[in-house]
Amino acid sequence: MKALPNSCCAVCDMSDARGLTTTRLSTGELVIVCGNHELMYKRSSKTVASRSELRAMLRDRRRSYDRRSLQIDELGAQLSEAFSDERRAASDRRR
Ligand SMILES: [Zn+2]
Repeated sequence: MKALPNSCCAVCDMSDARGLTTTRLSTGELVIVCGNHELMYKRSSKTVASRSELRAMLRDRRRSYDRRSLQIDELGAQLSEAFSDERRAASDRRR
């Protein structure tokens, strides 16, 4: 669906018409969003009833997603480190 001219993403205010599309709120209202935020909204299991809710959800989501993935990376690194130590210890014991 083509976005209207002179419009911008309801979440990030991106106004490049080539990257804009629309999404539907739980109220049935069409809201203009960029492709990224349309995808993020589609992927989230939540629905929102207003532009401001959409904005709050997708902005918070991006922040918490960044934080979470960073923590997972750190945890993953610690785990694989601990795991390889354990494996090394185990194979040392077997020798
Ligand atoms: Zn956007």
